[in-house]
Amino acid sequence: MARVADRTQEPPADIRRQVPSTTVLLADPLLSEASARLGRPAVKAAVATAQQLVRDGRIGPGDAVHAALAALPAHPAGPTPVHNATGVVLHTNLGRAPLSPTALEAMAAAGGYTDVELDLTTGKRARRGRGALAALREAVPAAEAVHVVNNGAAALALAAVTLAAGRDILLGRGEFVEIGDGFRIPELLVSCGARIREVGTTNRTRLGDYADALGPDTGFILKVHPSNFTVSGFTSGVGPGELASLGPPVVVDIGSGLLAPDPLLPDEPDAATALRAGATLVTASGDKLLGGPQAGLLLGRAAAVEPMRRHPMARALRVDKFTLAALEATLRGPEPPVRTALRMPLPQLRARTLRLAEDAARRGMDAHVVPHEAVVGGGGAPGTVLPSCALSVPGHLARPLRTGEPAVLGRVVRGRLLLDLRCVPEEHDEDVLAAVLRAAGR
Ligand SMILES: *Cc1c(COP(=O)(O)O)cnc(C)c1O
Repeated sequence: MARVADRTQEPPADIRRQVPSTTVLLADPLLSEASARLGRPAVKAAVATAQQLVRDGRIGPGDAVHAALAALPAHPAGPTPVHNATGVVLHTNLGRAPLSPTALEAMAAAGGYTDVELDLTTGKRARRGRGALAALREAVPAAEAVHVVNNGAAALALAAVTLAAGRDILLGRGEFVEIGDGFRIPELLVSCGARIREVGTTNRTRLGDYADALGPDTGFILKVHPSNFTVSGFTSGVGPGELASLGPPVVVDIGSGLLAPDPLLPDEPDAATALRAGATLVTASGDKLLGGPQAGLLLGRAAAVEPMRRHPMARALRVDKFTLAALEATLRGPEPPVRTALRMPLPQLRARTLRLAEDAARRGMDAHVVPHEAVVGGGGAPGTVLPSCALSVPGHLARPLRTGEPAVLGRVVRGRLLLDLRCVPEEHDEDVLAAVLRAAGR
């Protein structure tokens, strides 16, 4: 009997045949678990990376699963989470207000089937988002009616199309505001079919200036809070109370979303005060000082809010179920992180920072604590400085920290990287320290 050579146990000549197949790798229990968590495309990409390492002879075929696991993204698809160590509480580029864990939980629940537009007692259709609307009404008793749209700009746009299409909006020359990324409030209003009538001057505007600009075509008088700049010196303006005496509706865009006066920010306008003074309507953002999700809040007289709610454009600006859930949870739930950051006592902040600096110094790092000035940022309380402090480390760590996992964003000032913990939840301090040590190779 002729002997047959059995070559199945020998390494194949073609190195490519040593690379474990995609099907085999995806069937691995650990990788298939990752597939369920992160999605198949993300795991396939990691598998491809691992296969390339085997092909290049950098790892053996037996290490492919391990390499694929190492190549997996740390979190599901979407924006990269960032530790905000800038000291800017509402950082526009970091998504403004972070939500409270309670609001995040409410959003997760809203991802399934919910009673967003159904009354479970009667089994009939109910007002969409009535929980969030009721919470907003209760938070501002001075408002007869409330409505919620996509963002602050949408709230203003809905006011303009409902109350001033083809008509005049009176706006003080000191309140022609560019909000950001080149978008300007007067241009937004004109794009809604309204005409702007400029009133007064940049620094001084009187009641008589508004009275002179009034006419049969006046839709409303608008006050816009200069939320991202200050004008100081020889200035004067007119409040909503005096303007209300002129007759036409008075719309006040307070911007930041403070619902009631806040002793921490005495110069920041709030909805309750404006309404009590006589404003017909107040518009605001949900994701600034309110500390909630991106949303536009409309609060005021029922005669103004109801037509806006029923305007055809309202449907194009309506918010999704996640926004309604997060807004309700923000209004009824625990203090949102924005408030915690704003009122964080300096001694507590200094103690936290010192602990990190001492740990870093003990590991041989050039680290110390310096005074820092935090700001509200993001269209709220311009010019207000929050006395703060920062962990100062070598400036060259800025990039590795920014691009690391987790990402940490600080401020580089005169060659030093300053990390202000005011907007970092205390339970993340160790995480930030570990990232700093890693970036410094300690
Ligand atoms: C931020 C802001 C806006 C725009 O609000 P968004 O929610 O960003 O659309 C409008 N007016 C004022 C005064 C603001 O501060």
